[in-house]
Amino acid sequence: MEIFSNWSGSMTFTPGKICTPESEEQVCELVKKATFEGKKLRVVGAGHSSSPLIRTDDYLLSMKHFRGVEAPDLQHHRAIVPTGMTVKEAGKDLFRYGLAMHNTGDVDVQTLAGAIGTGTHGTGVELPNLSAMLYGVRMVTGTGEIVEFDRSTDEDTMQALQVSMGSCGIFLKMKLQLEPVYQLFRREYCVSFKNCMDHLEDLEKNRNFDFYWYPRTDLCKIRIMNKEKEKMPEIGYGSLELEREGPSHEILPRSRHIKFDEMEYVLPQEKAIDCFLEVRQQVKENFRRDVAWRLLIRTIRKDDALISPMSERESVTISLHHNAGLRFWNYFKAIEPIFLKYEGRPHWGKKHTLKAAQLKEMYTHWNKFQQTRQKFDPEETFLTSYMHELFIA
Ligand SMILES: Cc1cc2nc3c(=O)[nH]c(=O)nc-3n(C[C@H](O)[C@H](O)[C@H](O)COP(=O)(O)OP(=O)(O)OC[C@H]3O[C@@H](n4cnc5c(N)ncnc54)[C@H](O)[C@@H]3O)c2cc1C
Repeated sequence: MEIFSNWSGSMTFTPGKICTPESEEQVCELVKKATFEGKKLRVVGAGHSSSPLIRTDDYLLSMKHFRGVEAPDLQHHRAIVPTGMTVKEAGKDLFRYGLAMHNTGDVDVQTLAGAIGTGTHGTGVELPNLSAMLYGVRMVTGTGEIVEFDRSTDEDTMQALQVSMGSCGIFLKMKLQLEPVYQLFRREYCVSFKNCMDHLEDLEKNRNFDFYWYPRTDLCKIRIMNKEKEKMPEIGYGSLELEREGPSHEILPRSRHIKFDEMEYVLPQEKAIDCFLEVRQQVKENFRRDVAWRLLIRTIRKDDALISPMSERESVTISLHHNAGLRFWNYFKAIEPIFLKYEGRPHWGKKHTLKAAQLKEMYTHWNKFQQTRQKFDPEETFLTSYMHELFIA
């Protein structure tokens, strides 16, 4: 028996058995065995989600042996990525073939399958979350069969699979829609809160832009990236803290040494600033001294995945960061109602308290997603008690 812990240490459990199959046949056999025994099986990536998506008392399956980019297609800018690969490994491999992802999140240590599965995003008004790259998939269903789909033949199924948290099947390989390799220029500045707010409209014109707000100092760190050096703005009202340039897969992500817990909500773009100002007020009044480390605000383009948090809405995310090891629920639970008041949807892989009854009201295509999930997992092998709470009741 081995205790499993997520990255921050705030979610632990003891799976009955951890399995690391080395072939597609072994994945199929494991799923069939779990289904036959009436047990639950969850597939884990790098374990960076802090919501208990992967928690199971029975089988926990890792795809870590499935690696190595295949079939690079420079004409259509596509390639196949096996699902044991991290964002970093995939980025490096793709670069060798002249291909690149349109964006990454803040770190690259997650698996690409895990990141896609939860709708993980970076920032940029023109850039959708990582799941938008999913062009096709080869997966093992809840009955242990291998099936394949892609956007040219089955758009509806792909929209369901795009953000599906391992609930429809275990992805073996993902065909991704990519871009030719590109360089990025990155600058980070420290600016006053007022200057950040006053210049938001201009700042959002950069390819990638986001900012941290630090409640204790009331300062902001703005982060800007562009493909062309000429497009990098001169920020006369801030002090330059960092400047870098290089291939996108090296410039987009950062290393994280300080561990933290996080709640992140995805707001409709037009409501985000009002929401942020109300959250800020609450943090200043009640949490400034004790808990609030920093908040991160990012923009993301809408997509068409059935249960992507950015589904059919141009979006802005607000996330609360709190140092790992300290109590966070008091703080997160005080702010969550503000996110909900402004029609926020939770990030699937981060802390939130919502259950199916609330979640289904947030997504137009909720029932369509559930029908697809039931079709691929008729015996509910992937539906642990947490996933049941999330999807059913
Ligand atoms: C330090 C840190 C920084 C982060 N930065 C960002 C960020 O910038 N933006 C953002 O949006 N999020 C961010 N996150 C959240 C993180 O990207 C997501 O939680 C992501 O899902 C984690 O990927 P993982 O490989 O650890 O997957 P896990 O957490 O292990 O799994 C996530 C989900 O994917 C499913 N899954 C995994 N592999 C497969 C597979 N082969 N087939 C089908 N389903 C699969 C799992 O079953 C699970 O439901 C961050 C998290 C941390 C800890």
